[in-house]
Amino acid sequence: MFNGAIKLAKKCPMKETIFVKPGLVAVQDSEKPKIKAADDAIIHVLKTCVCGSDLWTYRGLDEKAENSQNHGHEAIGIVEETGSAVATVKPGDFVIAPFTHGCGHCAACLAGYEGSCLSHTDNFSRGVQAEYIRYQHANWALVKIPGQPSDYTPAMINSFLALSDVMPTGYHAARTGNVQVGDTAVVIGDGAVGLCGVISAKLRGAKQIIIMSRHEDRQKLALEFGATDVVAERGEAGEKAVLDLTHGSGADAVLECVGSEQSNQTAVAIARPGAHVGRVGLPHGQGADPAQIFYKNVAIAGGIASPTTYDKDILLHAVLNGDINPGKVFTKEYPLADINTAYQDMADRKTIKAAIDTEPAAG
Ligand SMILES: [Zn+2]
Ligand SMILES: [Zn+2]
Repeated sequence: MFNGAIKLAKKCPMKETIFVKPGLVAVQDSEKPKIKAADDAIIHVLKTCVCGSDLWTYRGLDEKAENSQNHGHEAIGIVEETGSAVATVKPGDFVIAPFTHGCGHCAACLAGYEGSCLSHTDNFSRGVQAEYIRYQHANWALVKIPGQPSDYTPAMINSFLALSDVMPTGYHAARTGNVQVGDTAVVIGDGAVGLCGVISAKLRGAKQIIIMSRHEDRQKLALEFGATDVVAERGEAGEKAVLDLTHGSGADAVLECVGSEQSNQTAVAIARPGAHVGRVGLPHGQGADPAQIFYKNVAIAGGIASPTTYDKDILLHAVLNGDINPGKVFTKEYPLADINTAYQDMADRKTIKAAIDTEPAAG
């Protein structure tokens, strides 16, 4: 029924990461995924990575069933099979597998908000820290990279991997924060997404980019990516420092890349009247006082990012041109077999973001 599905299907098991319990993920043998719907693709994963959001359950802060499918949702790889409705990629193509699965034709996708796609409910990747994945709604959502992995340097490959989530999520903060040429932008958060927010603010022409960061390795990378100022303080002291740097006015655009109650309050406190706050940190807690938002005329925007839209329209081109190098957020690499160490190192802040190479395990 589906193109190539029978011809290429192999019975061999594959390696897949599962969530064992808080503090432990493990690699196990699993059946290779199969095409289930006409717009599915099977992808042989070349590289995947650990997301800051994967750490919520790893740290035991969000509930998750033991011995269940893992959260991992970022990958690049080679298309192995496609369903009959997939016309945009073919077996052998090198692709970015964004974490959202937009249909490309609903009102949300057409407006460039495929993270909120209206066509289906299975809009997010999971379980991609594996050798093979089934990628649903592949036709529009996958992003084809020209050529093959062997055509690129390891640094470029890591930048492609960043395009599956953190780079477009940082860009979403800048877009929904409405960063304009000449603006002063503040980035709250120095994780991989915040650092990609710095890249994005620069890409959109911000003149002054202030990163709120307490960690020296991340401050350094933020400055390399285009930050002009660093504020290490948090809370009221951090707000005062930003106001001092903006002559008491506040920022034209705020990129909120954490999601905590404090970071949402800070975002409004440091926004100048009429500014936009672009939120990409999943909100935890109460957030800012609605009355303060009202009296300051601040627009609160943002949400789930639009990786396919940004990759196709802007970011893949910028990586291929060497204009941006978001792959630098991957400060350590691990074979798939060592994925628990990768999680632990990220949880302990020994690496900004952990890249996982599936090839050694593939033999
Ligand atoms: Zn992610
Ligand atoms: Zn859609």
